[in-house]
Amino acid sequence: MARTLSDRSGRAVALHRQSAIATVRAYIGLGSNQGDSASHLRDAVAELARSPGVAVVAQSGHYRSAPLGYLDQADFLNAVVAIDTALSPAPLLAVMQSIENRHGRARSFPNAPRTLDLDMLLYGSQTINEPDLVVPHPRLTERAFVLAPLHEIAPELRLPDGQGLQAALAAVAAQRVVLLDD
Ligand code: ADP
Ligand code: MG
Repeated sequence: MARTLSDRSGRAVALHRQSAIATVRAYIGLGSNQGDSASHLRDAVAELARSPGVAVVAQSGHYRSAPLGYLDQADFLNAVVAIDTALSPAPLLAVMQSIENRHGRARSFPNAPRTLDLDMLLYGSQTINEPDLVVPHPRLTERAFVLAPLHEIAPELRLPDGQGLQAALAAVAAQRVVLLDD
């Protein structure tokens, strides 16, 4: 938070109030394969950015990927955003789920088509094992459509187990993901 004062020579001086709230860098994976997927992804990023306690600091391009698990459905569009957040993991997950719900997300069966899926990939370097929240996201390292956009916006990032993203990507090189033009 900044306010401006004038110093003795009349110049505007920005004073940054010391913030008592520490923020954590977190990464959120976005996916959609129903409706106008590009709009769902774009709107979701805007809604995240408007959420109190969430600042979007980087966002990847949109990647097209083939479905995994349940194959009889449309290709997905995926992206990853980096946020700095003052929210603890549980309230952040609640924000993400309310955004999913606003996009008409229905939970039918695992790997079903979805208008919008928001996954908490990483929350700082924390490891979380709660019944409703597991971080790093358990399937993070199995999915090129997560690792490729994550690598785009944070190439130097290391996973909490110390693994670099290049090494993780090499392990899923057989999965085809395509970065789309803007
Ligand atoms: P998936 O994304 O695996 O296809 P869903 O989005 O339907 O499946 O899963 C939602 C459930 O997963 C939620 O009820 C949530 O509590 C749980 N969950 C556990 N860990 C995470 C995480 N890291 N990010 C998002 N949801 C998670
Ligand atoms: Mg999900």
